[in-house]
Amino acid sequence: MTVTDSGSAYVVLLATGGTISSRGSEAGGGAVASDTGEQVFASIGVPAAHPVRVVDVLRKGSYLLTVDDMIAICARVRDALSDPQVLGVVITHGTDTMEETAYLAELTHDDPRPVVFTGAQHAADSPTPDGPGNLARAIAVAGSPESRGQGVLLAFAGTIFPAAGVRKCHTTRLNAFANPDFGTAGAVSESGEVSMKPAGPVIASLPLPGSGAGSSRVDLVPVYPGADATLLRASRQAGAAGIVLQGTGTGNANREICREVAEATASGIVVVTSTRVEAGAVVPVYGDGGGGDLRAAGAISSGLLRPSQSLILLSLLLRLGTPASRIAETFALRGGPGRGTSPSQKLPKMTSQKEQ
Ligand code: ASP
Repeated sequence: MTVTDSGSAYVVLLATGGTISSRGSEAGGGAVASDTGEQVFASIGVPAAHPVRVVDVLRKGSYLLTVDDMIAICARVRDALSDPQVLGVVITHGTDTMEETAYLAELTHDDPRPVVFTGAQHAADSPTPDGPGNLARAIAVAGSPESRGQGVLLAFAGTIFPAAGVRKCHTTRLNAFANPDFGTAGAVSESGEVSMKPAGPVIASLPLPGSGAGSSRVDLVPVYPGADATLLRASRQAGAAGIVLQGTGTGNANREICREVAEATASGIVVVTSTRVEAGAVVPVYGDGGGGDLRAAGAISSGLLRPSQSLILLSLLLRLGTPASRIAETFALRGGPGRGTSPSQKLPKMTSQKEQ
């Protein structure tokens, strides 16, 4: 049911594009985001668990989104939640960068009402679209009292994840997401029954900057066998205010990269060390260009944050004009156990850990 009057409680559906709205292009090219939010909503084909108001925000593949687009989406979440009749918000979004927008929404979310991201792996015109089922379940989650106080969630293929730590883990499988460090937040059945685990500790939200205001360049630079400092130098020359280093293992690089990181941090660029490994914390234990040397060169550890979400946190903090010392504190807080984490989960000690 689409909301036509403001008399009853309802869920807002913010449509941004992605595969859930995509169809093959006429020229026989690849699928492109085509359907409006109303078309995406109509595709569920069964009565929704709650009344829904549809808002078109963007119509793009999420591989095209910028951080400014993500800020704009989060601003629309705020607008939606300004109506006390709103039970919660669903965002249909491409899966490629859903973990980035969902994390930005989580960082800036300060309302007990849930925000639920979903999308699809199969296009809207596929013979077996998964978007309608995912959307119907996401609406059930967003309107459920069970979801209140759970923050920003990602509901996909029946599993509900907390936004912090969630990642796309498979290119084509229908259950495309995982949250290796923080696990799941709950589950939603095909008929819309929602069961949630107790919410993890809440970390105070950060302000949402204006779109484009004080935008800062943040680059993601990978470390790989034989990597030299060329990419880091290029990032510096391009005017980066922040760099996320995708290290190996516990967050390691090599001597040449460490020298360049020292120069970058000395010139005021904030460098964060994350890792290409799927789970576990960045732990600065190694010398010889390893994580211990990166820390000595002034790099901040991302803790449990993967490169994708480290980039979002660093971009947000730099746009907010946060000083480097405060950025380090925020990564220590956010990179540790947070919402969606069992209170007993602790970061490992930073000494004598051997790489496997
Ligand atoms: N494969 C992507 C999707 O699920 C494309 C995108 O991220 O928009 O929507």
